[in-house]
Amino acid sequence: MRVTFPHLGNLWIPAKAFFSSLGFDVITPPPTTKRTLSIGARHTPDGACLPLKVTMGNFIEAAELGADTIFMVGGIGPCRLGYYCELQRRALARAGCNAQLIVVEPPLSDLRGFASVVRTIKRRATLGQILEASRLAWAKFGAVDTLDQAANMARWRESDPGRVDACVRRGFVLLEEAETCDAVHDAVGQTLHDVECCTEARSGPALRVGVVGEIYVVMEPAVNMDVCKKLGRLGAEVVQPITFSHWIESHIVCDIARWMPRPDVLSWSRPYLRHFVGGHGVESVGHSVEMARSGLAGVVHIAPMTCMPEIVAQSILPSVSRAEGMPVMSLNVDEHTADVGFDTRLEAFCDLLLARAHEAGEASPYPCHRPVST
Ligand code: SF4
Repeated sequence: MRVTFPHLGNLWIPAKAFFSSLGFDVITPPPTTKRTLSIGARHTPDGACLPLKVTMGNFIEAAELGADTIFMVGGIGPCRLGYYCELQRRALARAGCNAQLIVVEPPLSDLRGFASVVRTIKRRATLGQILEASRLAWAKFGAVDTLDQAANMARWRESDPGRVDACVRRGFVLLEEAETCDAVHDAVGQTLHDVECCTEARSGPALRVGVVGEIYVVMEPAVNMDVCKKLGRLGAEVVQPITFSHWIESHIVCDIARWMPRPDVLSWSRPYLRHFVGGHGVESVGHSVEMARSGLAGVVHIAPMTCMPEIVAQSILPSVSRAEGMPVMSLNVDEHTADVGFDTRLEAFCDLLLARAHEAGEASPYPCHRPVST
């Protein structure tokens, strides 16, 4: 069995650790590029949302390298993710790809389906090995998020453009090589230390900007045009509350262990949106409210074109912006989105936030106007 999975930012690191620890041959899908997108778009319906197209491209590229089994997450509720596995099965067959698609459904919504995935894995490994592999993968999930967050907080203070990202890239290599939880811990400690060494003190406070939206586009720099990096280079300290480990905690661990307190994003969104609308619609609204009340300067909301939960959030965010007094900018992405359009809009948004800070007589944030492409 030569297994693969969606590339999704740095998610491939814990996913590879999990399957490799269980003795599977792992074919890591190549990083997402324009080719990935164009392959995915060719084999999926026009109106499908971007994550479906990108994951299709990932699967076909991995199959070209020899993968014969694909693991993909499923879902329930208003979001279209729930039926994507069926579309993908048919699209893979039409593309002449014989790989088997195994869908991991949320345990409590499809216990039988989840048990069948566990049985497939158990044929290769004992329960003890599965637990050990899960432990290592969980440590890597947390580590990936920690390094991403550290880069988001540090870029605006880096002494030379690109040094923070170089440190974090080295950290991801160490993480991939780590075979124990202790090694993961050491890799994180070393990388955080390196990141701190390539930053310097700034005289003014940071221009703090939040990034919210659908998890796939928020976590995959190749499809969100590297929005966090661009904001960092424009002088913003980026706060990104939607992460892999948070998703696993709230959608899988809390789902199984009903006694665990759920992260209470619903209480933040309640004045504007009271119901689950699928995907990360509630999170986009709730986190925006939370960030406005914590004094962030503004929020960038990223949504895949035609994504229903984010269309709902996008229609509510202007009310949040007016009522909470914080600018929010929504950006839609699809396979035709260009870097330059993003650059212009992000530069204009940061200029607006800086002007507001000056008008409010706040101590001037660090006014960095380096071109975003540096
Ligand atoms: S949340 Fe939106 S983009 Fe993500 S799978 Fe669902 S419909 Fe598609």
